[in-house]
Amino acid sequence: MFENSDKTNIQELGEFGLIDYLTKAVELTEPSTVKGIGDDAAVLDFSDKKTLISTDLLLEGIHFDLRYVPLKHLGYKAVQVNLSDIYAMNGIASQITFSIGLSSKFPLEAVEEIYEGALIACKKYNVDLIGGDTSASAQGLVISVTSIGYAYAAKIAYRSSAKEGDLLCVSGDLGGAYVGLQLLEREKQIFLENPQIQPDLEGKDYIVERQLKPEARKDVVELFGTYGIQPNAMIDVSDGLASETLHICKASKVGCKLYEDKIPIDPMTYETAREFGLDPTVCALNGGEDYELLFTVPQDQYDKIKNQLDITIIGYITEEAAGCEMISKSGNVHPITAQGWNAFKR
Ligand code: ADP
Ligand code: MG
Repeated sequence: MFENSDKTNIQELGEFGLIDYLTKAVELTEPSTVKGIGDDAAVLDFSDKKTLISTDLLLEGIHFDLRYVPLKHLGYKAVQVNLSDIYAMNGIASQITFSIGLSSKFPLEAVEEIYEGALIACKKYNVDLIGGDTSASAQGLVISVTSIGYAYAAKIAYRSSAKEGDLLCVSGDLGGAYVGLQLLEREKQIFLENPQIQPDLEGKDYIVERQLKPEARKDVVELFGTYGIQPNAMIDVSDGLASETLHICKASKVGCKLYEDKIPIDPMTYETAREFGLDPTVCALNGGEDYELLFTVPQDQYDKIKNQLDITIIGYITEEAAGCEMISKSGNVHPITAQGWNAFKR
């Protein structure tokens, strides 16, 4: 893959040379960053706000496949999926650290592309890159991102504070990233069998982007601020709607009713799922990687929610004993399970 001989071998640079090279484009703009890269630790100051921290580990072959993920997208996505966790607390992300383990097959130009993607995400979301770690890896590429953010204590939305009677809401639309992945996997198989055939992703930009270039929903957190919406509970949709709904219900000791016909699914997601013989609802429930926000709000905030075009009310919170259930399009009641493949067969 990287056999081109005009690529620069990282060993020529050494660890410190590499760090200097990669971080030369880093700019600090966040007021809460006191000290970034260049000392033993970064220094931050959130004055009267609480600090939020979240970390993710991404391993080649487990979380991404370099055969169809462009390196720039990988850097971008690694940052996005991490920022998403801060927004899921109703906080604002302000810094990240970015750590990489590199196998010897990686030339400098490849790492540079990853960093380019990461820095584009940082710039777009007003996040400072304040440090990281760099190491050789015996096998495969490793990326670990830690994101740091802040929120006033009263604004933080835990998974555990959904209340009976709350409206269950979700931003954007679901299932697209999963269906996009199916498409990329199919094209990869075709390519492996016949490298002359170029991938045919025509007209499928939206779902391919949902998979390769997700956008964390900072805008939803900002919208909450603008309209004075305070979610009782919130989580980001990384593992599918079913799993995340169950996380909120379990942590909050409540149940829920979720309406299948309310689940927002983009027409391209819907059609492509059908082409693959998949149930679009199942893709939304169990697909994952959508990085939308799933949250509950008290009913008295209905007026503030109902006109938000990018937020859909998909159900409501009940007492725990009522269980977590989905009412299907045909009116049947199914228990929600984290792997509901069989439960929703029609
Ligand atoms: P230490 O020996 O204290 O771990 P390093 O030599 O690993 O220090 O790192 C020196 C500085 O460079 C630190 O500020 C660290 O946060 C930063 N740094 C190291 N690797 C990366 C990276 N991949 N991306 C961004 N900053 C990095
Ligand atoms: Mg180090």
